Amino acid sequence: MPTSHPTAPSFGGRFDARPTRRAVLVGLTTSGLAACASNPVGGSLRASAQEAPGPVASEEFRTWVGTFRPRALGRGVSAATYDRVMNAVVPETSVYKSDKSQPETQEPIWRYVDKRTNEYNVTTGKKRMVEYSALWDRIEARYGVDRYTLCGLWGLESSFGDLVISTKYMKPVMNCLAALAWGEPRRRTYWEAELLNALVIVDRGWAEPSEMIGSWAGAMGHTQWMPEVWLNMGVDFDGDGKINPFGKPDDALAGTARYLVERGKWRRGEPWGYEVALPAKFDAGDADLKTQRTLAHWANLGVRRADGEAFGNTEAVARLWLPAGVNGPCFALTQNFWAVKSYNPSTKYALAICHLGDKIRGKGAFIHPWPTQERLLSLTETQEMQERLTAMGFDTGGVDGRAGEKTQQAVQAWQKSVGMQPADGYPSDKVLERLRGG
Ligand code: CA
Repeated sequence: MPTSHPTAPSFGGRFDARPTRRAVLVGLTTSGLAACASNPVGGSLRASAQEAPGPVASEEFRTWVGTFRPRALGRGVSAATYDRVMNAVVPETSVYKSDKSQPETQEPIWRYVDKRTNEYNVTTGKKRMVEYSALWDRIEARYGVDRYTLCGLWGLESSFGDLVISTKYMKPVMNCLAALAWGEPRRRTYWEAELLNALVIVDRGWAEPSEMIGSWAGAMGHTQWMPEVWLNMGVDFDGDGKINPFGKPDDALAGTARYLVERGKWRRGEPWGYEVALPAKFDAGDADLKTQRTLAHWANLGVRRADGEAFGNTEAVARLWLPAGVNGPCFALTQNFWAVKSYNPSTKYALAICHLGDKIRGKGAFIHPWPTQERLLSLTETQEMQERLTAMGFDTGGVDGRAGEKTQQAVQAWQKSVGMQPADGYPSDKVLERLRGG
């Protein structure tokens, strides 16, 4: 999880069909954990934990450890490793706690992005560019992933490794994954698979359970790898014979670059996209994060780079995004933006990473200001808007009071259907008024 916040933020749609770390977090922060709390298994877990004097695993858990054993052995984990690790596990039952991170107010995207691209992160990123210049050279040569964007990702995932050594938000991952595999009913298959992956990591001698410290969901190290990512995307880039997401950042950053290339289809030498300026008569309905055109095509429609430069790669396919409506900045997003988003299925998170990377590179703020003067709908108003849209058949992705990507797309689809201009998907007062008016 974005480790500058221990609590899971809201995330939008998923770029990837696989259960990514954050997609899992999203599910759990809402109905998953609620279901868990009311589930007989979850209930008994918590009762057991309360009755247990100190950190001792319950009999029920010990029984489950025995029944899960053949699964691990079938996966190739040695009996010695399984018994040594699992007999020492005390399930971290705090993972069942219902989400306490529900925000009380909407966080506008400009505040979200500003917080993550603040002066501290930019300055620290610049220091890391110098400190690790030889490593960045090697990673760029091998994988072609832009060092600044990768550094931005590092900054957002772990504050450049700070949280790797901070114990405040970090827990023993084996205890968390074991608790989830044992007692989290909704995504048990996923948690079981990740527990098995973690056991394989120990069995390979890459790490000891005591070293495997991470988020409650099991994300570890500089770039917050789930065990599956560690196993399958990890790279022993410092050549010490082990793949290690902790300590020296070599393995973590190289493996993450590999992830962006292999899973995100990163394209060497290309930018993530551009801030663009739209012509006066542009149909905002085309800036819908879906419509794909080459940059040459967008340029023919009058779309220009906000900084006045020419698009370098006119044949690249781009989608346009107005994250704060027509009164805010617009972005033309090309493949490498989606590569970053493959690491975390949140569009605004990917924007923050790319923007932080650009600021570390030496670029300034976005050219078009954010519409900070606009009143945001309250949670209640947003819920009402979502209810009304849902009733009309527009999928807002739930009625949670948070105007995420799915809700914005629903607003935009509705705007188009009723001919409301601009059809920019921005959940404004006007949208709610018109919805109320029927
Ligand atoms: Ca290594």
